[in-house]
Amino acid sequence: MSGFCTLEGRLALVTGGSRGIGRAIAVELAGAGAQVVVGYRSGAEEAEAVAKEIGGRAVQADVSQPEEAARLVEEAGDLDILVNNAGLTRDGLIARMSDEDWRIVIDTNLGGVFATCRAAARGMMRRRSGAIVNLSSVVGVHGNPGQTNYAASKAGIIGFSKALARELATRNVRVNAIAPGYIETALTEVLPDSVREALLASTPLARLGAPEDVAGAVRFLCSDEASFITGEVLLVDGGLGM
Ligand code: NDP
Repeated sequence: MSGFCTLEGRLALVTGGSRGIGRAIAVELAGAGAQVVVGYRSGAEEAEAVAKEIGGRAVQADVSQPEEAARLVEEAGDLDILVNNAGLTRDGLIARMSDEDWRIVIDTNLGGVFATCRAAARGMMRRRSGAIVNLSSVVGVHGNPGQTNYAASKAGIIGFSKALARELATRNVRVNAIAPGYIETALTEVLPDSVREALLASTPLARLGAPEDVAGAVRFLCSDEASFITGEVLLVDGGLGM
C-alpha cells in the first residue's frame, strides 16, 4: 500500500485502544498499513475484538503504573509509532476534590505518557526514527471548571511533548500533541444536555467531533507527510479554541 499518509511497514502502539478515540486511531493506523498493538487496561473483550478486526495484537497494562507501562512498550516491540491516548476524568470542584481523584488523573494521563515515552525513546533514538503523538485536550489549553486535575494533566502533556520534541529532534524522532475538542465517546456521554448545547453553540462547525476526526489527524502526524512537524499542538475541535 502506498499513497498519501501511508504507514506501510510501521509498528504502532496505541494506548487505550479498546474503545472511543483510541479504537478509531487503531483502526485508522491499521488501515494505513501499520501493524498495531492495542493497549488496554480493563476492556479485554473490546480490545481483543479491535485487534482481531485489524489483524493486530492486544496487550493489557495499566499505564498509571510505570513498570506496567514499560512492560507494555517492551511487549509491543521495536516501535515506529507511539500514540498515547489512554486517559480518564474524575471531575469535581476544587474544594471537594479528593487526593485520590487528583492522583489517579495525573498518574494516568500524564504519568502514563511519561512512562511509555521513556520506555520507547531509547529504541527510537537508536534507530534514528520515530513518531510520538500524545493526546491532550482543549481543556488543557483553555481550562474548564470542575476539571482542575484533568486540565493540569492535559496541559502537562503539552509541555512534556514540547520538551521531549526538543530532546529527541536530533535523532529524527518527532513528538506532537493533539488537543481534541468535544468528541462523542463514553467520556463525554455523561455531559448534561445543557452543557452539550453550550458546547455546540461555541463550536463554529456546530457539531461534536467523531473519534474518526481525531484518528485522521493522528495518522497524518505519524506519517512522512508530517516529517517537518515536531513540538506542535494540533487542535481538532471544530474551531472551538480559535
Ligand atoms: P474513553 O473513556 O472512551 O476511553 C479511554 C481509554 O483509555 C480506554 O481504552 C481505557 O481502557 C483506557 N485507559 C484508561 N485508563 C487507563 C490506564 N490506567 N491504563 C491503560 N489504559 C487506560 O475515552 P476517549 O476515547 O473519549 O478519550 C481518549 C483520549 O482522548 C483520552 O486521553 C482523553 O482525555 C482524550 N480526549 C477526549 C475528548 C473527548 O471529548 N472524548 C476530548 C479531548 C481529549 P479500558 O477501557 O480498557 O480500561
